[in-house]
Amino acid sequence: MSIRFDNRVAIVTGAGSGLGRSHALLLASRGAKVVVNDLGGAVDGSGGSLTPAQRVVAEIEAAGGAAIANADSVANPEGAKRMVQAAIDQWGRVDILVNNAGILRDRTILKMTPEDFDAVVAVHLAGSAYCTMAAWPHMKEANFGRIVMTTSAAGLFGNFGQANYAAAKLGIVGLMNALKHEGAKYDIRVNTVAPIALTRMTEDLISPDVKPRLKPEYVSSMVAWFCAPENQATGDIVEVGAGYYARVQIMEGEGVLLGDGQVPTPEEVRDHYARICDMRGAKPFESANEVMRRVFGEIQRPSK
Ligand code: NAD
Repeated sequence: MSIRFDNRVAIVTGAGSGLGRSHALLLASRGAKVVVNDLGGAVDGSGGSLTPAQRVVAEIEAAGGAAIANADSVANPEGAKRMVQAAIDQWGRVDILVNNAGILRDRTILKMTPEDFDAVVAVHLAGSAYCTMAAWPHMKEANFGRIVMTTSAAGLFGNFGQANYAAAKLGIVGLMNALKHEGAKYDIRVNTVAPIALTRMTEDLISPDVKPRLKPEYVSSMVAWFCAPENQATGDIVEVGAGYYARVQIMEGEGVLLGDGQVPTPEEVRDHYARICDMRGAKPFESANEVMRRVFGEIQRPSK
């Protein structure tokens, strides 16, 4: 059975170019009515125009789909509300939210200004939260929602010169981790893609020989599956680019109990650091409570 979004309304942020445009086109081609949101600014977030969003709307309409353009900034809570309201006014519902909008202000921490930090965190992290807050009541009411977040290998694993971006992108994973619990009861599923694709954001970073392989469309297929009503996955992160799809998970090692009921000295910690860091037997946890239960179980276990 093919994946369809007939009678579904999707909002894709930052959909005027790159990955967002590709997501919007794919969802629309499968029957979704799409709010194409894009501030229409430069890669660093400066400027703004409705034109990029309108261009994508024209592409969707030319292919027989339905879409409206919106140029509100996701970093503005009122803008996020207006964007969601536009979907409600037009079609009366919001089923899918793809939090994709993003900017870059790459600098080492030595050269980074608080404004560079705040601007990047505002668009990626606060923007994903504001759009989600605005869409959530409608999803809860409908007992259905699919939300896709956009993180990055830079946040998951680190990258030189991207402290603001990496912090925001891993913050988005934290956002998802909480929301997967809050949404479970209402069939609101929240998942995350970590894309690698050729866009204006990455065109100077990717070597020419692999550029033809890095089509945004590869990422959109993953996004579409996360948006599918029949997909029950939630809290998953998938790294995706050029046909490569791999789950990323945060794991905790088996750990070691030190101090025999007393606070261990720093020297004891030092002497056991290799065991503390041993990832053999590592496993993921569903929630903070599950981690607590494990720790409490360990400390209450009778000593051998
Ligand atoms: P892009 O620059 O083509 O697209 C980002 C879009 O977001 C732009 O059209 C921009 O106008 C829009 N935008 C920026 N600020 C906005 C705001 N405040 N409100 C609304 N729209 C805004 O770049 P892209 O590569 O398509 O990036 C899409 C997402 O994927 C970003 O979150 C980015 O961090 C992430 N990402 C991309 C890659 C990659 O390899 N391209 C890798 C990791 C993560």
